[in-house]
Amino acid sequence: MPKITKTLHCPFCGSPSKIKEFFGQSDYDYNKTYYDITCTNVDCYLQDGADWRFNTPEEAAQLWNKRNIKIERREKLKQIEKI
Ligand SMILES: [Zn+2]
Repeated sequence: MPKITKTLHCPFCGSPSKIKEFFGQSDYDYNKTYYDITCTNVDCYLQDGADWRFNTPEEAAQLWNKRNIKIERREKLKQIEKI
């Protein structure tokens, strides 16, 4: 199975997202590597990340890219109906 690390745009502001690598700081995980997703828009709520601690970038990307398409379509239809 191919490893997917490409991330969809931010669901809040629509800006590109990226995978962030960071290291544990506490006694039990000092320097352990974690992966999170951040939004590239500095004004977005997710600028600092989703506060996830995945062990691989693929796991982070997989959860980030999981979207509820039915809800997104419903919201788009509501917007179209307003026009
Ligand atoms: Zn964003």
